[in-house]
Parts: sequence; C-alpha cells; structure tokens
Amino acid sequence: MKKPNVLVTRQVASEAIALLQEVAEVDVWTQDEPIPRQRLLEKAENADGILAMLTERIDEELLARAKRLQIVANMAVGYDNIDLPACKARGIHVTNTPDVLTEATADLAFALLMATGRRLIEANRFLMNGEWTAWSPSLMAGKNVYGATLGIIGMGRIGEAVARRAKGFGMKILYHNRSQKPQAEAETGAVRVSLEALLRESDFVVLLTPLTEETRLLMGDQQFSWMKPTSVFINVSRGGTVDEAALHWALSSGKIWAAGLDVFQQEPVPVDHPLLALPNVVALPHIGSATEQTRAEMAKLAAANIAAVLAGKGPLTAL
Ligand code: NAP
Repeated sequence: MKKPNVLVTRQVASEAIALLQEVAEVDVWTQDEPIPRQRLLEKAENADGILAMLTERIDEELLARAKRLQIVANMAVGYDNIDLPACKARGIHVTNTPDVLTEATADLAFALLMATGRRLIEANRFLMNGEWTAWSPSLMAGKNVYGATLGIIGMGRIGEAVARRAKGFGMKILYHNRSQKPQAEAETGAVRVSLEALLRESDFVVLLTPLTEETRLLMGDQQFSWMKPTSVFINVSRGGTVDEAALHWALSSGKIWAAGLDVFQQEPVPVDHPLLALPNVVALPHIGSATEQTRAEMAKLAAANIAAVLAGKGPLTAL
C-alpha cells in the first residue's frame, strides 16, 4: 500500500524525520530560507500531513488546495499562524508543542530580563567599541533584579516557569490572567491583580500571553503610560501583542526605562526599525525556545503527532 505523504517545511532533527519516514513518504524543505508561499501551496496539494513552522501561514487559501490533508503539526506552542476554525471545519487536526519548550523559553525570558535590566548588551558594545577608558560608579548602572517586583501577563506554562525563576531572585510576583492559578500562587507566592495594577506596580513586566484577537495590541499607549518610569518591559509572546509605535513613544519619552524584545510585528524585524535605534532596547531574533535539545524535542513531538494521526489514532497534543 502506498504510504501517505508528509511535508516538513524546514530541516529539523533527524530523529523526527526518521520517525516520519517509518510511516510516510517525507518531503523536507531543506533550504535555509522558509519555503516560498507558492511552493508551499503546491506541495500542500499532495500532503496528508504538514509539519509546519511559525513562518508558514496555514489559511483558507492553503486548505482549499490541500484536499488530502489530515493534520497540521505546528513546531511551536503558539499557533497564530494557523486558521484553527478553518482547519476544524474541514476535520483537519492541528497540534502544537506545549511543555517541551517551557523551560527553555522561560530561561530566555529571564535572560532577556536580566540583560535588559543590567544593560548587558549595551555594556558589551561599549567595551568592544573601545569606549571603556575608566571605571566609574555610574558606569552602565542598571536596575536591581533581586528583590524587584515582577509582573507576568499571561501566567500559563511559561509564565509559571518564569515565576519559579523569579522566586530564586527574591522577587515579588504579580500576575494577570483571565483565570486564577492557585498552584502557581502556592508555589511562588504570586498574586493575581488587574492589568492596570500590575503595570503600575511592577519593576519588570514580562508579556507571555498567546496572540489572539483579545490580546492583539494588548500593550498600547494607555498601558505603557501606567508603567513606572523606572520599569522594564519584556516581550516573549508574539509581536502582535504590542503596539510598537506606543512602545517607541514610551521608551523615547522616558515613560518606561527599557525594553527587551524577542518578538516583533514584522519578522525578521527590519534593521532600520525605529525601536532598534534606541539604546534602551535589547532585541533578539525570536529565539525563545532555541536550544538544540528543545528544538529536537519540539520536532519529535510534532512528528509523533503526525505519526499518530496517520495511524488512525488521536493526536497527542491537539488544539
Ligand atoms: P499557555 O500555557 O497557554 O499560557 C498562556 C497564558 O496566557 C494562559 O495562562 C492564559 O490564561 C493567558 N491568557 C490568554 N489570554 C489572555 C488574556 N486575554 N489576558 C490575560 N491572560 C491571557 O501558553 P505557554 O505555553 O505559556 O505559551 C505562551 C505564549 O508564549 C505562546 O502562545 C507563544 O505565543 C509564546 N511563545 C513564544 C516563544 C518565543 O520564542 N518567543 C516561545 C514559546 C512560546 P487564561 O486563559 O486564564 O487567561
């Protein structure tokens, strides 16, 4: 019997490819650049399963052509690149990769918080540029992390993991979520407050909600105006959750002190983007879950989801 076809839109861990090859003919897009839209649409026509990255838009246009498609396995926990209702309407399974990336992403969020609060990138640039001519008491003075108040917007899997790290830094933890998280409260002493209270009281704000219609542009002029002039804003969610013009205004007018950004409205962010010109911005190229081990685990989980569905079983991490 002919094996089903699986399209893998980027080169991923060999274990994941091997797992898929046991059950399917596997077509891997091996180039460095994301698969061009037209090629994706063509290849989708023949695919029973797609192992997709967040760079691929899985929408009506694609689904209308992908008549054989049974499953889209996104190699990410966020799935704002996928039209979930459209997939559901066609009976196509959609899966993501929760849990396996939680700790790596929390590490990155905390690293970005520290790098921004303690001006690590700016300080490194200063030294490498040969500007370090004398020690001074105010040289690259940043903000205390230990003992500061941390506000987590979106206390989910990653938010809770950030809170656990913050506990080790003696931080007071506030969070904003639609639902209460009693276990996280017990474990980390976190207190649930309104978004406004969180923004008014926090020294560090970390944004970790999914991008949904409700969270789109969640952080705008008003929200930044509630923050303290000494505060640091960190975004590790998706670029769409932040009004970048409002953030630029907040940073350049001294409304907030600094920002650390792993995600942008447009990715890759253009190098002439106004936010990148600000000295108080630490910018990263969307590397939240980017460790070798975690990316391999994400690929294996996505592949296992496809293998399960093609074998007629339910997916492991269905959305
Ligand atoms: P999760 O467990 O689903 O947590 C998300 C949290 O956000 C939930 O606790 C949810 O709680 C809260 N939330 C949702 N809508 C909200 C709203 N309107 N207002 C306030 N809180 C809201 O997801 P996760 O695994 O922690 O991942 C979170 C997000 O991080 C992903 O969706 C993804 O976009 C992003 N991420 C980024 C990277 C990166 O590389 N930068 C890596 C991994 C993940 P309630 O439903 O109770 O409100």
